[in-house]
Amino acid sequence: MLRQAALQTGLLGPNMIGLTLGHGIYICHGHESPRLLSHECRHVQQYEQAGSIAAYLPMYLQQIVQFGYASAPYEIDARAHEAAAQFK
Ligand SMILES: [Zn+2]
Repeated sequence: MLRQAALQTGLLGPNMIGLTLGHGIYICHGHESPRLLSHECRHVQQYEQAGSIAAYLPMYLQQIVQFGYASAPYEIDARAHEAAAQFK
């Protein structure tokens, strides 16, 4: 169910360059950047606030399905906390 939602929304598709699972952050080769890393770290903080990944993931996917990736509140929040480009 979660996997299906993730696939449906393109979350696990070829366009995905970063993934955060627990405190592990996975970034595709060639896409490493302070900006992406800070973005993924913000997702870690988001699910620490949610209490657990089990609590966070359904809320996150619900937002993706409901608002779309670009407009999901968790994504807007993560983008707002990306390190500035000149920071690298
Ligand atoms: Zn994100």
